[in-house]
Amino acid sequence: MPAIATTRSLSDYSKINISACRQQLKQADKPFLDFSYQYRGKAYNYSIQVSKTPCNYGGHRHWFLCPSCSKRTSVLYFAATYVCRHCIGANYQSQLQQPIDRLFSRLHTIRQRLGWQAGIAYGIGERPKRMHKSTYNRLVSEHEQLTAKVWQATLDKLHCTH
Ligand SMILES: [Zn+2]
Repeated sequence: MPAIATTRSLSDYSKINISACRQQLKQADKPFLDFSYQYRGKAYNYSIQVSKTPCNYGGHRHWFLCPSCSKRTSVLYFAATYVCRHCIGANYQSQLQQPIDRLFSRLHTIRQRLGWQAGIAYGIGERPKRMHKSTYNRLVSEHEQLTAKVWQATLDKLHCTH
């Protein structure tokens, strides 16, 4: 087994970008986003503060304020609740044994074996030259199932996605 704690990277986490929430912010016209989802049988309902800064070319852009440290960020990472990249560093050790993380670590192992770039966002890569076709097909199919489970377990439960 690989050392999970040292091989995990930020790209392995589900994340949400402020740009995906643009429509919701426009319609609601309020300085926060409501989050409501189930994770590990527990219901999460909370708001994440949003701030605005003017753009160079007119208009303005939005930022999340991290619920944990209140710093401005354009990306939040999922660790039961959403936090910024600095906070997830302090958080992820306690998350390692959760089912979603087991899915991620298995995905990571498969991607490493195939020599693909880390992070499920990069999708399916090529078959390594020395790998048997049947092995490759088996790993790709397992990878696809795991990816589907990961998305289902996290993103579908959010209001703030398309
Ligand atoms: Zn933070």
